Amino acid sequence: MKIGNQLKIKKKAIYFFAGMVTIFVITILGIQYYNDYKYRQTHEFKLLEKGYTKEETTILLEKIKEEKIIELLNQEKKDYLISIITEKYYLEKNLDQYIEFYEKNKNKGMYDIIAMVNVHANQEWYETTTEADTTKENLILVNKYYQLKNDYTPENLTLVSNWYCYGKNQITKEAYDSFLNMYQKAEEQNIKLIINSSYRDYQSQEATYNNLKNSYGLKRADNQAARPGHSEHETGLAIDIFSPGNTTTTNFKDSEAYQWLKEHAHEYGFIERYPEGKEYLTGYNFESWHWRYVGIDIANKIQEEQITFDEYYAYYLEQ
Ligand SMILES: [Zn+2]
Repeated sequence: MKIGNQLKIKKKAIYFFAGMVTIFVITILGIQYYNDYKYRQTHEFKLLEKGYTKEETTILLEKIKEEKIIELLNQEKKDYLISIITEKYYLEKNLDQYIEFYEKNKNKGMYDIIAMVNVHANQEWYETTTEADTTKENLILVNKYYQLKNDYTPENLTLVSNWYCYGKNQITKEAYDSFLNMYQKAEEQNIKLIINSSYRDYQSQEATYNNLKNSYGLKRADNQAARPGHSEHETGLAIDIFSPGNTTTTNFKDSEAYQWLKEHAHEYGFIERYPEGKEYLTGYNFESWHWRYVGIDIANKIQEEQITFDEYYAYYLEQ
């Protein structure tokens, strides 16, 4: 072979090699550019660009639906967003309401923001009402948001023996059986529980409320009694308890019986329904005497989590 030909072949090989390297480099750059372009389209990139940290972005993408993320991307960064969605009782369906309520109440803690929206206490009491879900049986929620119909009558109402109460009283059979167990246990420890009030029908609640309203006006009536359909006593699951020597709404809280109930009532399925300090969630002043039957499992859970029944219902039961 001539030297000239050998050189030609070498040259060709070099060109070929150079060509291959160029194609390779272009391909790599192209892939990199494409990947980069694709990443820039992701919600992750856009959230980071908005100023959310890597950690916050991960939480947002994990906890919020895509359509909501898109909405958030069209808004200013919200510094408090993460503290909303990492609250224990955060419900995604309420996100817009949490944001709106927080914007108007920045002095409130985030626990309260979440709890108030969940139990519909972010609006005035009775501003909106809806029908109570009576299929929930022992877990029916009746408050200043959930209302019973005027013809609702609980099933299995049972007359309470005069031994255990003042006047005529009725509660559901299951609540009564549980009360009897509780009564017995309390009595063994020299605590005497007396039922002072229990089931009331719509009509008697209406009469009580209207009397107050006619005598003292709407505000005082609302303060002292539930509007008809809104009293838990209409469920047949609520009892007002007194004990000898502590038979008024002002002094029952100082009784041994009240302390005993606080420690043990949940073991029999009863919960303190309107606890002190939770008025802004229940809509009711502290009522040491008012106990509600929900069944043992749920009462234990409510006791353990130290929440109101309204909060329990909103988080675990409401659709
Ligand atoms: Zn009561």
